[in-house]
Amino acid sequence: MADCIFCKIANKEIPSSIVYEDEQVVAFKDLEPQAPVHVLVIPKKHIESILALTAEDAELVAHVFTEVLPKLARDLGVAEKGFRVVANTGEEGGQSVKHLHFHLLGGRSMQWPPG
Ligand code: AMP
Repeated sequence: MADCIFCKIANKEIPSSIVYEDEQVVAFKDLEPQAPVHVLVIPKKHIESILALTAEDAELVAHVFTEVLPKLARDLGVAEKGFRVVANTGEEGGQSVKHLHFHLLGGRSMQWPPG
């Protein structure tokens, strides 16, 4: 989608530190990391948020949760000690980029509740 920064990252129109990529998703380091490990997993196709997911996206979501996130957690060394996956959604959810993304955070002790 034009003017979507994460579409531009997925299309390599702007640089990012990509740590994983396949046909459906890209994962890259967050520009302002909130933990020693902080990567974002995004679908290559533009989906605004969790609220815009449809049944057609079920395979994509399953791929992210059963393959991509566990692989990244292991590869980035946080699987054993633990990590957090977050999808901020909408204004009060703290979503600043309107392209679905899953934050994978780890490498430190997480607090609860989040701010
Ligand atoms: P959210 O606030 O949940 O929508 O998360 C958006 C995230 O994208 C924030 O953590 C930003 O630091 C991150 N971000 C924004 N622009 C970029 C970029 N060009 N490269 C990497 N991360 C970015």
